[in-house]
Amino acid sequence: MKFGRFSLISALWRRTQRVKSIVLAQDRDGGTKARLTQLDVPSPGRGELVVKMEACGLCGTDLEKMRGEYTASMPVLGHEAVGVVYAVGEGVNGFKEGDRVFPHHHVPCYECYYCRSGSETMCDMYRKSNIDPGGFSEYFRVPSWNVSKGGVLRLPDEMSFETGALIEPVACCLRAIRTHAKSGETVLIAGAGPVGLMHALLLEPMEVKVMLTDVSRARLDFAERMHLGLVLDAKGDVQSRVKSESQGRGADLAIIASGSKDAIIQGLTSVRKGGRVLLFGVPPKGSVLGYDISDLYNSGQQIVTSYGATDADARETIGILDSNPEFGRLITDRFPLSNFGDAVEAAASGRSMKVLISP
Ligand SMILES: [Zn+2]
Ligand SMILES: [Zn+2]
Repeated sequence: MKFGRFSLISALWRRTQRVKSIVLAQDRDGGTKARLTQLDVPSPGRGELVVKMEACGLCGTDLEKMRGEYTASMPVLGHEAVGVVYAVGEGVNGFKEGDRVFPHHHVPCYECYYCRSGSETMCDMYRKSNIDPGGFSEYFRVPSWNVSKGGVLRLPDEMSFETGALIEPVACCLRAIRTHAKSGETVLIAGAGPVGLMHALLLEPMEVKVMLTDVSRARLDFAERMHLGLVLDAKGDVQSRVKSESQGRGADLAIIASGSKDAIIQGLTSVRKGGRVLLFGVPPKGSVLGYDISDLYNSGQQIVTSYGATDADARETIGILDSNPEFGRLITDRFPLSNFGDAVEAAASGRSMKVLISP
């Protein structure tokens, strides 16, 4: 193999450089915790990309993974990453070093029964591949499955990496709303964190009457400043207020933007007869709902769920984020990888909205 002087130096540098990465590790009492480690820069295998991370959002599910409570997929930390293509594996077409990208962490096959029936995020392959070692890493590897199935999206030139880091969570909300919300309805959003407010922003063009509820005063105040709908303290009599705002019926749809059981019950008691409760937040492992099922039956209510997003959802989201700067207001905190612990504390405190990690 022939090397020019520069490429020899850069090849050696790549081989010897160590990168910071936050990964889940087993602690002494068998629990899991996030740990800052030094890893080698990954090198791309055939069909793979290596991406240099520029920003990655901290998601509520990352906190659940650290607490060992997450149930939906393998516990890899960081799935809202955007960055720059750093190295391109053999056989990859359509990408070059320097491309600004959002690589989706889970990608469906688009061929199986689930995919063909519109349940792409239930595809057996969807949760099987992931970026490695995760999004909270200075560099990460994107598997050939994700690259070849169209899971790597290009960021528009004018889109900042910070805005790009919102693509994944907003795409998940968009998928939920597209599947379960109808225009002109009354919608209660239980949970006024970043994800609750993303739902509210997406509902705005649908002429929906939005009510938001949360237990955190700071989040209620933030929601009020965003002017996204009627803001209600979850500790108050939400049910009566929702009824009085909907001619005595109750909301048509309750979106549970939280993993809390109390929020789910608040949703069930606040929707009208024949209404829907959409579970969006991931309930912690072992959650059992104390709710009289006969009430559910007799009121004709439905419980529906939404999990994840496809790259079609993400592509549409890029257009939405590009045209609505309000989403950017949700980013309230930024931390470098080396202060990951502070980022987790901020996200768990209920005072922050969207927390971003930078390299
Ligand atoms: Zn997430
Ligand atoms: Zn499939």
